[in-house]
Formats: sequence, structure tokens, C-alpha cells
Amino acid sequence: MDKTVLLKDKKVLVTGGSRGIGFAVVEECLKSGADVLYLSRTESAAHEQLKETAEQNGRQVYWVPADISDEESAEEGVKKAYEVLGAVDVLVNNAGITRDSLVFRMKREAWEEVLRVNLTSAFYTCRTVARHMAKNRSGSIINISSVVGISGNGGQTSYSASKAGLIGFSKSLAKEIASRGVRVNVIAPGYIETEMTAVLKDEITQAIKQQIPLGVLGSPKHVADSVIFLASDMSSYITGHVLVVDGGMIM
Ligand code: NAP
Repeated sequence: MDKTVLLKDKKVLVTGGSRGIGFAVVEECLKSGADVLYLSRTESAAHEQLKETAEQNGRQVYWVPADISDEESAEEGVKKAYEVLGAVDVLVNNAGITRDSLVFRMKREAWEEVLRVNLTSAFYTCRTVARHMAKNRSGSIINISSVVGISGNGGQTSYSASKAGLIGFSKSLAKEIASRGVRVNVIAPGYIETEMTAVLKDEITQAIKQQIPLGVLGSPKHVADSVIFLASDMSSYITGHVLVVDGGMIM
């Protein structure tokens, strides 16, 4: 299949593109014919690789520093995206963190940080981008949640709450702007091999693997491929959907 036509000439804004799932999303968008700008606090250690991918596909890739949990910084980052790209056809809210602990040991600061980075940030980016998309009567917003936002997980109350909140936010926004031709969907990944999961003990990783019917851990590309589907016209009749990408873990 010729992937380069899937997002031909689209302008894509990705939060948290410096590594992990976000990095794969940036790469796959470039390979699918889009120009991409990503926001993160640090430039990707592999930014040169992204530039090469962009060059090979006749596209452009940009990094703009932003802390998307901070209202001013997030808004400035989105503003820069419009200045640099000229438009945003696809927004991928991917940046996220964990600050896991049992609820009775959890500090209020840690709780609030997780909610700010994982949930409030999507409100900041969507508030501006959805308005532009509604005006243009087209656009696709993809929010990266998690299976634990659906199933819950002991030790992850703040993370699960933020990811469940993101699903509710996305479905409500989808209803608000569907009539303007803008789609809003969610991807709920299961266990994906990135720096976020690298901190888990080996026995925990092995135990999780036992619960995956497809028998392998997920890769960032598995998630990125689903992003391309939801960003492209291949999914033009899908909005307010939660696409679980977990090898069958929580079916
Ligand atoms: P990761 O490897 O830790 O990468 C996180 C990304 O978010 C980085 O690019 C980081 O960039 C960015 N980020 C964090 N805080 C930020 C902030 N305040 N402002 C701007 N950018 C920020 O994580 P990942 O595993 O790729 O996860 C990506 C998304 O998928 C997250 O939302 C995560 O919850 C979700 N997810 C992951 C898994 C999994 O198994 N890995 C499963 C389900 C869902 P900087 O540090 O440079 O700012």
C-alpha cells in the first residue's frame, strides 16, 4: 500500500513527540505524507532521524519547546504551530506521565501534576485547535488515553482518573463539534514498550505479557498505525470512538 497518500499534505500537531509513542506518531505521519510539528519540553534525542525521514518523504518536521501542562506555554506552542505549519488538520494529544503510588500515600502535588499533564493539557490544545477546525469545517483530533482509563488499575488512581477523564472529554467534544465536520477519537493503548514502561520490574512485565492474548508486548508503531487510521479519511465516519490497541488484553 502507498502510505504517502493517507495524510497527503496534512498538517499535524503532536504533543509529546520527543520519544516513545509520540515519536512513532511523528515518524508515521511524515511517512504518510504530512508535515509535523511536535511539542515537548525537550527536543527528541533522535530529531536528526525525524529530519531524515521528513527529507526522504519530501516533508517538514519541527520541534517547538513547550510544557503543555502550563496554560501559557501550551497556548504559545499551539500558536507557533499555526505560524509554522499554516494550519492544523490533525491534533494528537499524546504527552503523558505517571506518578504511581497507592492512594493513601499519594501527595496532592503528584495527583495534580498527573491531571494537569494528562488531561488539562488536552483542554488547552483543543480549546484553540477545535475552534480553528470548526471554522474550517474539517479536522481530526486524537487523544491518547489508556486501557487503565477503562478498566482501572491498583496503584494508578491518578493516572486512571486522568485517562478516564480524557475519554469523557473526547466524547463530549466529539458531540460538540461533529456537526462542523470535526472528528474526535481516543486510542487506549495497553502495554507498549517505551521509557514509561521500562521502569516496571521484569516480573511485572512478564505477568502483563501473560495477560495479552496476542502474546507480545505492544510497540509504539502499533499505536502510531492506529493514529494514522483515525487521522485519515479511512475513518471518516468514525467519531467519539475509543479504539483499544492492546493485543486483546482487556476484551
Ligand atoms: P514516554 O516515553 O514517557 O514519553 C512521554 C512524552 O510526553 C515525551 O515526549 C515527553 O517529552 C512528553 N511530555 C511529558 N510531560 C510533558 C509536558 N509537561 N509537556 C510537554 N510534553 C511532555 O511515554 P509513552 O509511553 O510514549 O506514552 C505516550 C502516551 O501514551 C502517554 O499519554 C501515555 O499515558 C500513553 N500510554 C502509554 C502506554 C505505554 O504502555 N507506554 C500505555 C497506555 C497509554 P518531554 O519529557 O521532552 O517533555
